[in-house]
Amino acid sequence: MKVCVIGGAGYIGSHAVYELIRDGHEVVVIDNLSTGLKEMVHENAKFYLGDITKKDELTNIFDKECEIKPFDVVMHFAAKLIVPESLDQPLEYYHNNVEGVRIMLEVMTEHDIKNVVFSSTAAVYGEPEKALCEETDKTNPVNPYGETKLASEKLIKWVCQKYDMNYCIFRYFNVAGADESLEIGLKKDNLTHLIPVTIQTALGLREKMIVFGEDYDTRDGSCIRDYIHVSDLAYAHVLGAKYLVENHKSLLVNLGSNEGYTVKEVINEVEKYMPVNYVIGDRRPGDPAKIVASNAKAKELLGWSPKKNLSDMIRTDMEFRKKNC
Ligand code: UDP
Repeated sequence: MKVCVIGGAGYIGSHAVYELIRDGHEVVVIDNLSTGLKEMVHENAKFYLGDITKKDELTNIFDKECEIKPFDVVMHFAAKLIVPESLDQPLEYYHNNVEGVRIMLEVMTEHDIKNVVFSSTAAVYGEPEKALCEETDKTNPVNPYGETKLASEKLIKWVCQKYDMNYCIFRYFNVAGADESLEIGLKKDNLTHLIPVTIQTALGLREKMIVFGEDYDTRDGSCIRDYIHVSDLAYAHVLGAKYLVENHKSLLVNLGSNEGYTVKEVINEVEKYMPVNYVIGDRRPGDPAKIVASNAKAKELLGWSPKKNLSDMIRTDMEFRKKNC
Protein backbone atom coordinates (compact mmCIF):
# COMPACT_ATOMS: atom_id res chain seq x y z
CA MET A 1 0.00 0.00 0.00
CA LYS A 2 1.01 3.61 -0.50
CA VAL A 3 -0.03 5.43 2.67
CA CYS A 4 -0.13 9.14 3.44
CA VAL A 5 0.39 9.75 7.16
CA ILE A 6 -0.73 13.23 8.18
CA GLY A 7 0.84 14.02 11.52
CA GLY A 8 3.49 11.33 11.03
CA ALA A 9 6.13 13.26 13.01
CA GLY A 10 4.03 13.16 16.17
CA TYR A 11 4.05 10.58 18.90
CA ILE A 12 1.43 8.13 17.64
CA GLY A 13 1.84 8.99 13.95
CA SER A 14 5.58 8.27 14.04
CA HIS A 15 4.94 4.86 15.58
CA ALA A 16 2.34 4.11 12.88
CA VAL A 17 4.95 5.01 10.25
CA TYR A 18 7.43 2.57 11.84
CA GLU A 19 4.85 -0.24 11.83
CA LEU A 20 3.82 0.49 8.22
CA ILE A 21 7.45 0.40 7.08
CA ARG A 22 8.10 -2.82 9.03
CA ASP A 23 5.11 -4.31 7.21
CA GLY A 24 6.59 -3.31 3.83
CA HIS A 25 4.47 -0.31 2.81
CA GLU A 26 5.40 2.95 1.06
CA VAL A 27 4.91 5.91 3.40
CA VAL A 28 4.59 9.65 2.77
CA VAL A 29 4.51 11.83 5.89
CA ILE A 30 2.94 15.30 6.03
CA ASP A 31 3.44 17.27 9.23
CA ASN A 32 3.52 20.96 10.16
CA LEU A 33 6.01 20.19 12.97
CA SER A 34 3.94 22.26 15.40
CA THR A 35 4.33 19.53 18.00
CA GLY A 36 5.92 16.76 15.93
CA LEU A 37 9.66 16.36 15.42
CA LYS A 38 11.40 15.76 12.11
CA GLU A 39 13.82 13.37 13.83
CA MET A 40 10.87 11.06 14.66
CA VAL A 41 10.14 10.44 10.98
CA HIS A 42 11.48 7.08 9.81
CA GLU A 43 14.37 7.48 7.36
CA ASN A 44 12.55 5.36 4.74
CA ALA A 45 9.46 7.60 4.75
CA LYS A 46 9.20 10.59 2.42
CA PHE A 47 8.63 13.79 4.39
CA TYR A 48 6.73 16.98 3.47
CA LEU A 49 6.41 20.01 5.69
CA GLY A 50 2.75 20.99 5.33
CA ASP A 51 -0.28 22.15 7.27
CA ILE A 52 -3.68 20.57 6.61
CA THR A 53 -5.50 23.70 7.69
CA LYS A 54 -3.94 25.33 4.59
CA LYS A 55 -5.61 23.80 1.58
CA ASP A 56 -3.05 24.97 -0.98
CA GLU A 57 -0.23 23.26 0.91
CA LEU A 58 -2.07 19.95 1.09
CA THR A 59 -3.22 20.17 -2.54
CA ASN A 60 0.34 20.74 -3.79
CA ILE A 61 1.60 17.65 -1.98
CA PHE A 62 -1.31 15.47 -3.15
CA ASP A 63 -0.90 16.71 -6.75
CA LYS A 64 2.77 15.79 -6.71
CA GLU A 65 2.41 12.40 -5.00
CA CYS A 66 -0.74 11.23 -6.74
CA GLU A 67 0.80 11.94 -10.13
CA ILE A 68 3.51 9.41 -9.27
CA LYS A 69 1.07 6.93 -7.68
CA PRO A 70 -2.21 7.65 -5.86
CA PHE A 71 -2.44 6.97 -2.13
CA ASP A 72 -4.32 3.82 -1.19
CA VAL A 73 -5.00 5.18 2.28
CA VAL A 74 -4.72 8.49 4.14
CA MET A 75 -4.18 8.36 7.92
CA HIS A 76 -4.93 11.36 10.11
CA PHE A 77 -3.02 11.97 13.35
CA ALA A 78 -2.66 15.74 13.12
CA ALA A 79 -4.78 16.79 16.08
CA LYS A 80 -4.35 18.84 19.19
CA LEU A 81 -5.10 16.50 22.07
CA ILE A 82 -4.65 17.99 25.52
CA VAL A 83 -7.92 18.13 27.46
CA PRO A 84 -7.11 21.10 29.76
CA GLU A 85 -5.64 23.03 26.81
CA SER A 86 -8.84 22.41 24.84
CA LEU A 87 -10.91 23.98 27.61
CA ASP A 88 -8.62 27.00 27.42
CA GLN A 89 -8.41 27.21 23.60
CA PRO A 90 -11.71 25.97 22.11
CA LEU A 91 -11.39 28.10 18.95
CA GLU A 92 -7.92 26.76 18.15
CA TYR A 93 -9.08 23.20 18.81
CA TYR A 94 -12.06 23.46 16.43
CA HIS A 95 -9.92 25.10 13.77
CA ASN A 96 -7.10 22.57 13.87
CA ASN A 97 -9.06 19.41 14.62
CA VAL A 98 -12.27 19.92 12.63
CA GLU A 99 -11.35 22.35 9.86
CA GLY A 100 -8.13 20.37 9.32
CA VAL A 101 -10.16 17.19 8.76
CA ARG A 102 -12.62 18.98 6.49
CA ILE A 103 -9.81 20.24 4.25
CA MET A 104 -8.13 16.82 4.24
CA LEU A 105 -11.38 15.19 3.11
CA GLU A 106 -11.94 17.83 0.44
CA VAL A 107 -8.46 17.25 -0.97
CA MET A 108 -8.99 13.48 -0.81
CA THR A 109 -12.23 13.74 -2.81
CA GLU A 110 -10.50 15.97 -5.38
CA HIS A 111 -7.83 13.28 -5.83
CA ASP A 112 -10.26 10.36 -5.73
CA ILE A 113 -8.62 8.78 -2.66
CA LYS A 114 -11.07 6.31 -1.16
CA ASN A 115 -9.78 5.21 2.25
CA VAL A 116 -9.23 7.17 5.44
CA VAL A 117 -7.99 5.98 8.83
CA PHE A 118 -8.85 8.45 11.56
CA SER A 119 -7.50 8.76 15.12
CA SER A 120 -10.39 9.42 17.43
CA THR A 121 -10.61 9.10 21.17
CA ALA A 122 -12.41 7.65 24.17
CA ALA A 123 -13.13 11.29 25.05
CA VAL A 124 -16.10 11.11 22.62
CA TYR A 125 -17.91 8.94 25.19
CA GLY A 126 -17.57 11.45 28.02
CA GLU A 127 -18.45 9.75 31.28
CA PRO A 128 -19.24 6.15 30.26
CA GLU A 129 -22.45 4.68 31.65
CA LYS A 130 -21.15 1.14 32.13
CA ALA A 131 -17.97 -0.65 33.17
CA LEU A 132 -16.77 -1.60 29.68
CA CYS A 133 -17.17 1.01 27.01
CA GLU A 134 -18.50 -0.31 23.67
CA GLU A 135 -18.62 1.39 20.30
CA THR A 136 -22.43 1.50 20.39
CA ASP A 137 -22.43 3.45 23.68
CA LYS A 138 -23.85 6.94 23.75
CA THR A 139 -21.39 9.68 22.83
CA ASN A 140 -21.41 12.66 25.14
CA PRO A 141 -18.06 14.49 25.25
CA VAL A 142 -17.38 16.56 28.35
CA ASN A 143 -14.64 18.78 26.90
CA PRO A 144 -13.85 20.59 23.62
CA TYR A 145 -11.18 18.04 22.69
CA GLY A 146 -13.75 15.21 22.70
CA GLU A 147 -16.30 17.42 20.91
CA THR A 148 -13.89 18.20 18.07
CA LYS A 149 -13.12 14.51 17.60
CA LEU A 150 -16.80 13.58 17.55
CA ALA A 151 -17.54 16.38 15.07
CA SER A 152 -14.72 15.05 12.86
CA GLU A 153 -16.03 11.49 13.07
CA LYS A 154 -19.46 12.66 11.92
CA LEU A 155 -18.00 14.74 9.12
CA ILE A 156 -15.97 11.74 7.92
CA LYS A 157 -19.07 9.49 7.93
CA TRP A 158 -21.14 11.94 5.86
CA VAL A 159 -18.35 12.56 3.36
CA CYS A 160 -17.64 8.84 2.98
CA GLN A 161 -21.33 8.22 2.35
CA LYS A 162 -21.54 10.91 -0.29
CA TYR A 163 -18.29 10.12 -2.14
CA ASP A 164 -18.33 6.31 -1.88
CA MET A 165 -15.30 6.27 0.42
CA ASN A 166 -14.50 4.07 3.42
CA TYR A 167 -13.33 5.02 6.88
CA CYS A 168 -11.65 3.25 9.74
CA ILE A 169 -12.20 5.27 12.90
CA PHE A 170 -10.16 4.23 15.91
CA ARG A 171 -11.22 5.46 19.33
CA TYR A 172 -8.04 5.44 21.37
CA PHE A 173 -7.93 5.04 25.07
CA ASN A 174 -4.79 6.07 26.99
CA VAL A 175 -1.63 5.54 25.02
CA ALA A 176 1.89 5.23 26.48
CA GLY A 177 5.33 3.72 25.94
CA ALA A 178 7.92 3.89 23.18
CA ASP A 179 9.05 1.76 20.25
CA GLU A 180 11.33 -1.09 21.42
CA SER A 181 14.13 0.38 19.22
CA LEU A 182 13.99 3.47 21.49
CA GLU A 183 14.49 5.59 18.35
CA ILE A 184 11.07 7.20 18.80
CA GLY A 185 8.88 7.95 21.79
CA LEU A 186 6.99 10.73 23.48
CA LYS A 187 9.36 13.69 23.44
CA LYS A 188 7.71 17.04 24.04
CA ASP A 189 7.95 19.97 26.37
CA ASN A 190 5.21 20.42 28.92
CA LEU A 191 4.05 16.82 28.99
CA THR A 192 0.76 16.37 30.83
CA HIS A 193 -0.11 12.67 30.45
CA LEU A 194 0.10 10.52 33.52
CA ILE A 195 2.70 7.90 32.58
CA PRO A 196 5.38 10.27 31.24
CA VAL A 197 4.73 12.75 34.05
CA THR A 198 5.16 9.99 36.64
CA ILE A 199 8.36 8.75 34.99
CA GLN A 200 9.78 12.26 34.69
CA THR A 201 9.13 12.70 38.40
CA ALA A 202 10.82 9.36 39.20
CA LEU A 203 13.82 10.36 37.09
CA GLY A 204 14.12 13.70 38.92
CA LEU A 205 13.16 15.74 35.83
CA ARG A 206 10.25 17.15 37.86
CA GLU A 207 10.35 17.98 41.50
CA LYS A 208 6.95 16.43 42.22
CA MET A 209 3.67 15.44 40.61
CA ILE A 210 0.05 15.82 41.61
CA VAL A 211 -2.57 13.07 41.73
CA PHE A 212 -5.67 14.87 40.48
CA GLY A 213 -8.23 13.82 43.07
CA GLU A 214 -8.63 10.79 45.30
CA ASP A 215 -12.33 11.17 46.03
CA TYR A 216 -13.68 9.46 42.90
CA ASP A 217 -15.93 6.43 43.19
CA THR A 218 -13.17 3.94 42.25
CA ARG A 219 -11.24 1.22 44.13
CA ASP A 220 -8.67 3.64 45.58
CA GLY A 221 -10.36 6.98 44.88
CA SER A 222 -8.13 7.95 41.93
CA CYS A 223 -9.31 7.87 38.30
CA ILE A 224 -9.24 4.70 36.22
CA ARG A 225 -8.00 4.71 32.61
CA ASP A 226 -7.32 2.01 30.02
CA TYR A 227 -3.64 2.25 28.98
CA ILE A 228 -2.31 0.67 25.79
CA HIS A 229 1.18 0.54 24.34
CA VAL A 230 1.78 2.89 21.43
CA SER A 231 3.25 0.12 19.24
CA ASP A 232 0.13 -2.03 19.73
CA LEU A 233 -1.97 0.96 18.79
CA ALA A 234 0.23 1.75 15.79
CA TYR A 235 0.02 -1.80 14.48
CA ALA A 236 -3.79 -1.62 14.60
CA HIS A 237 -3.50 1.12 11.95
CA VAL A 238 -1.71 -1.24 9.58
CA LEU A 239 -4.53 -3.76 10.08
CA GLY A 240 -7.18 -1.05 9.66
CA ALA A 241 -5.66 0.20 6.41
CA LYS A 242 -5.48 -3.33 5.01
CA TYR A 243 -9.08 -3.94 6.05
CA LEU A 244 -10.24 -0.91 4.04
CA VAL A 245 -8.25 -1.82 0.96
CA GLU A 246 -9.34 -5.47 1.02
CA ASN A 247 -12.97 -5.20 2.16
CA HIS A 248 -14.15 -1.79 0.87
CA LYS A 249 -16.16 -1.46 4.09
CA SER A 250 -16.05 1.09 6.89
CA LEU A 251 -15.49 0.36 10.56
CA LEU A 252 -15.35 2.12 13.90
CA VAL A 253 -13.53 0.37 16.73
CA ASN A 254 -12.19 1.02 20.20
CA LEU A 255 -8.50 0.40 20.78
CA GLY A 256 -8.14 -0.50 24.41
CA SER A 257 -7.23 -3.44 26.62
CA ASN A 258 -10.46 -4.32 28.48
CA GLU A 259 -8.53 -3.41 31.65
CA GLY A 260 -8.09 -0.27 33.68
CA TYR A 261 -5.57 1.03 36.18
CA THR A 262 -5.96 3.77 38.74
CA VAL A 263 -3.57 6.71 38.90
CA LYS A 264 -2.14 5.28 42.12
CA GLU A 265 -1.61 1.85 40.52
CA VAL A 266 0.38 3.48 37.72
CA ILE A 267 2.52 5.28 40.31
CA ASN A 268 3.07 1.98 42.19
CA GLU A 269 4.24 0.33 38.97
CA VAL A 270 6.78 3.13 38.35
CA GLU A 271 7.89 2.86 41.99
CA LYS A 272 9.08 -0.69 41.25
CA TYR A 273 12.00 1.13 39.56
CA MET A 274 12.35 4.36 41.53
CA PRO A 275 10.42 6.36 44.16
CA VAL A 276 7.94 8.98 42.90
CA ASN A 277 7.44 12.22 44.80
CA TYR A 278 3.69 12.90 44.58
CA VAL A 279 1.03 14.87 46.41
CA ILE A 280 -2.74 14.54 46.30
CA GLY A 281 -4.42 17.54 44.68
CA ASP A 282 -7.88 18.63 43.56
CA ARG A 283 -9.80 16.98 40.76
CA ARG A 284 -8.83 18.19 37.27
CA PRO A 285 -11.75 19.81 35.40
CA GLY A 286 -13.22 17.66 32.63
CA ASP A 287 -11.94 14.32 34.04
CA PRO A 288 -14.41 11.39 34.10
CA ALA A 289 -13.86 8.88 36.97
CA LYS A 290 -13.43 5.78 34.84
CA ILE A 291 -12.90 4.94 31.18
CA VAL A 292 -12.16 1.37 30.09
CA ALA A 293 -12.66 -0.01 26.58
CA SER A 294 -14.16 -3.21 25.36
CA ASN A 295 -11.89 -4.36 22.53
CA ALA A 296 -14.13 -7.23 21.40
CA LYS A 297 -14.91 -5.52 18.09
CA ALA A 298 -11.24 -4.86 17.26
CA LYS A 299 -10.55 -8.53 17.94
CA GLU A 300 -13.44 -9.71 15.82
CA LEU A 301 -12.96 -7.44 12.79
CA LEU A 302 -9.19 -6.94 12.75
CA GLY A 303 -7.84 -9.82 14.82
CA TRP A 304 -6.23 -7.17 17.02
CA SER A 305 -5.54 -7.24 20.73
CA PRO A 306 -2.74 -5.66 22.75
CA LYS A 307 0.48 -7.67 23.05
CA LYS A 308 2.12 -5.42 25.64
CA ASN A 309 1.10 -4.51 29.19
CA LEU A 310 1.45 -1.62 31.64
CA SER A 311 4.92 -2.68 32.72
CA ASP A 312 6.08 -2.69 29.04
CA MET A 313 4.72 0.84 28.67
CA ILE A 314 6.55 2.03 31.75
CA ARG A 315 9.80 0.22 30.88
CA THR A 316 9.97 1.52 27.28
CA ASP A 317 8.93 5.08 28.19
CA MET A 318 11.50 5.14 30.99
CA GLU A 319 14.30 3.78 28.78
CA PHE A 320 13.41 6.23 26.00
CA ARG A 321 13.34 9.12 28.46
CA LYS A 322 16.69 8.16 30.00
CA LYS A 323 18.24 8.04 26.56
CA ASN A 324 16.64 11.12 25.00
CA CYS A 325 15.39 13.63 27.54
N1 UDP B 1 -3.34 12.54 36.13
C1 UDP B 1 -2.85 12.88 37.38
N2 UDP B 1 -1.71 13.65 37.45
C2 UDP B 1 -1.06 14.07 36.34
C3 UDP B 1 -1.55 13.71 35.06
C4 UDP B 1 -2.70 12.95 34.99
O1 UDP B 1 -3.42 12.51 38.40
O2 UDP B 1 -0.05 14.79 36.47
C5 UDP B 1 -4.56 11.72 36.02
C6 UDP B 1 -5.71 12.42 35.30
O3 UDP B 1 -6.49 13.16 36.22
C7 UDP B 1 -6.48 11.22 34.74
C8 UDP B 1 -5.38 10.19 34.46
O4 UDP B 1 -4.26 10.59 35.24
O5 UDP B 1 -7.34 10.69 35.68
C9 UDP B 1 -4.97 10.14 33.01
O6 UDP B 1 -4.76 11.46 32.57
P1 UDP B 1 -4.01 11.81 31.23
O7 UDP B 1 -3.85 13.30 31.18
O8 UDP B 1 -2.78 10.98 31.14
O9 UDP B 1 -4.98 11.30 30.09
P2 UDP B 1 -6.54 11.59 29.78
O10 UDP B 1 -7.26 10.42 30.37
O11 UDP B 1 -6.90 12.89 30.39
O12 UDP B 1 -6.59 11.59 28.30
